[in-house]
Amino acid sequence: MSSQTAGQVCAHHHLYSTLARGMPAPNRTSGSFLEILQDIWWRLDAALDLDMIYWSAKLGATEALMSGTTCIIDHHESPNCIEGSLSTIARACAEVGVRVNACYGVTDRFSNQNQLLSKVSPLSKTTDGAARGLTECDDFLSSGGRGMVGVHAAFTCSDETLHGAAELAKKHSVGVHIHVAEGPEDSQAGARLEKLAQDDWLLVHGVHLDRDIKGYLVHNPRSNMNNAVGYAKPTRRNNRVLLGTDGIGADMNDEARLAYARLREFDVTENPATVWSWLANSYDFFPEARHDKVTYNYDFADSPWHSAFTTNLQVLSVEVDGEKVLQDGRPTRVDLDEVRSKANEQAVRLHKRLEN
Ligand SMILES: [Zn+2]
Repeated sequence: MSSQTAGQVCAHHHLYSTLARGMPAPNRTSGSFLEILQDIWWRLDAALDLDMIYWSAKLGATEALMSGTTCIIDHHESPNCIEGSLSTIARACAEVGVRVNACYGVTDRFSNQNQLLSKVSPLSKTTDGAARGLTECDDFLSSGGRGMVGVHAAFTCSDETLHGAAELAKKHSVGVHIHVAEGPEDSQAGARLEKLAQDDWLLVHGVHLDRDIKGYLVHNPRSNMNNAVGYAKPTRRNNRVLLGTDGIGADMNDEARLAYARLREFDVTENPATVWSWLANSYDFFPEARHDKVTYNYDFADSPWHSAFTTNLQVLSVEVDGEKVLQDGRPTRVDLDEVRSKANEQAVRLHKRLEN
């Protein structure tokens, strides 16, 4: 009793968030999307160093592989540890046998004195932090790394930085990977990006996007629900839609099931094939994943009408470029127990840092 699919692609991940699970709670109950960013994610990313980034990526890639995901489009931020972060992530993924498309998400939300700014004016100058982020993308891509130019979001960047990112992407013939109108705070994103965006850009979320702009739309249903930002209604757009997890694991069958349930709640005439076509669209970024072989403990994993309603699919083995990188549910290139325990050591260090 088994069936096969191609390798799955997570079109928007934050591998640095793998160690966030169980982190110390913030001092207040976050009451909005912006407060969730301030209280959780902007505390976490500022505390990261290279050891944490490496083991976070390694555990994230290992868990991805165990879910049948062989390719990850990652969006990384570590404002106090920028240089070398992308090659560290790429190395961790390669060691597990998972392909990654990496980028550093630039932002002007820190002043040149490294203070978190409450607001970033579009008319302000590119900050030192954003310039270093652009250089990290430039260096990684120039040295042959597979990636894109990352931007956190328009509302934390000056127009100068958005232009700089677009220019750098053009220089490397890649797109820009950017959060777009995830919450109401970023509702100006459409107006600010419409003249810059290109067909190869990854527009992540688009929940509060007020116009059509060029690029792929990456839908992250679980994260959107978790942050209470609203439903992105991806079917109302003309963009090619991809599916991401926004850092909450990389189990794409699971994300697709949730995407389907949310879509169906919005439009009862919809069917699972719509959502499974979003999974297939990601092969534009990783065409070779079509040849990966994921074997499941279930006869119909290749059928959307079965997968959408089968909540306990298990991945038995994964073959990438002809090599078995997962066998009997366990990774072959790395020791699962060692990855978990080393990652946990880094999680303890990280959480201690967050308490102080
Ligand atoms: Zn994200």
